Amino acid sequence: MTDNRVHVNGLRCRECGRDYPAEPIYTCEWCFGPLEVAYDYDAIKAAVSRESIAAGPLSLWRYSDLLPVASDAAVDLGTGFTPLVRADRLAAELGLGEVWLKNDTRNPTNSFKDRVVSIALSKALEFGFKVAACASTGNLANSVAAHAARAGMRSYVFIPSDLEQGKVVTTAVYGGNLVAIEGNYDDVNRLCAELAGVYEWAFVNVNMRPYYAEGSKTLAFETAEQLGWETPDHVVVPVASGSLLTKIRKGFDELHTVGLLDHEPQVRVSGAQALGCSPVASAWIEQSDTIRPVKPSTIAKSLAIGNPADGYFALDVVRTTGGGFAAVTDDEIVDGMRLLARTEGIFAETAGGVTVATLKRLAEEGIVRRDERVVVYITGHGLKTLEAVAPTCGPTATIRPTLDAFHEAFDVEEQ
Ligand SMILES: [Zn+2]
Repeated sequence: MTDNRVHVNGLRCRECGRDYPAEPIYTCEWCFGPLEVAYDYDAIKAAVSRESIAAGPLSLWRYSDLLPVASDAAVDLGTGFTPLVRADRLAAELGLGEVWLKNDTRNPTNSFKDRVVSIALSKALEFGFKVAACASTGNLANSVAAHAARAGMRSYVFIPSDLEQGKVVTTAVYGGNLVAIEGNYDDVNRLCAELAGVYEWAFVNVNMRPYYAEGSKTLAFETAEQLGWETPDHVVVPVASGSLLTKIRKGFDELHTVGLLDHEPQVRVSGAQALGCSPVASAWIEQSDTIRPVKPSTIAKSLAIGNPADGYFALDVVRTTGGGFAAVTDDEIVDGMRLLARTEGIFAETAGGVTVATLKRLAEEGIVRRDERVVVYITGHGLKTLEAVAPTCGPTATIRPTLDAFHEAFDVEEQ
């Protein structure tokens, strides 16, 4: 166990397995494969226990032994350890048994992106970067701007110019540079890859990506701990780049590797996409290995990545674990948001609508089963995408302030 409790051997290519030092790099020089953090699992196993984790802070930093940056160097807004709530009303409505919701709307900037950004910017400070940057579909923009403010870093946040107003305002308020690009996310991402070659900035989802992506594992860590150190039978995860889905699987596996689980996890992993941007779901449905890039057109803008970097890996996880995929329409997304709010009191953004609508579809198709313990990942708050439900959500009645007017409008039976 080292002083700063970081048990990182270096980076390793996910394609060819070549090793690299832990630096701000992200691509293999030999095969152009993506690099991933490689840990000293024996050292982690010696350092952690269920008790040591339970004694840690009520945030994702309780798992710092399994993360690539020291918790005492953390850019911390209190991210993580969000509620895992049993969803019996939703389960009953869908004909399912044991359903849980991991409510990541409760993070500091109201999405799961706070997990990846707190890791990325903590690591960026450790590397000595002064400027944080990112390409974003919205949630990442919110989170990078907020964490940069917290860390005293300058920031450049790049977004498609057609983003929801809620996400624009909740990024700009933190005072960094917000750059709206006339193009879609894939255009924004391409520009950022070019800028990363010009400026010595910490691009959280480019040169910081290997570290950044590790933050998503904490969703699996928390899920297992909150279930009493057991794993679910089935998880349903929204898919944008595909990174979140693959890291949740990795998180469960790592817990077993370091001795925190009694049994080898057997978690079926299913993916959720919007029909208007479903390159990974399409490959699954067509039983193809090729992820064909698409031009996104969906209200689920936070999932609108037409050329997903980890799409192939996500597809592989879903296949090898026996999960499934669905691609749901914009109407199903709105219905999913309203179903979740109506049955469980949780207001999710459009991505949450995609995930709930996918759960519904997979339940109907028998892929998610009634005898399974299911965890559904709700990754962002509904106030970010008010536009989606605003046309169908308003006052039940508008009346004059008199008893008569109320009685005219409502035939109330309850006393
Ligand atoms: Zn390689």
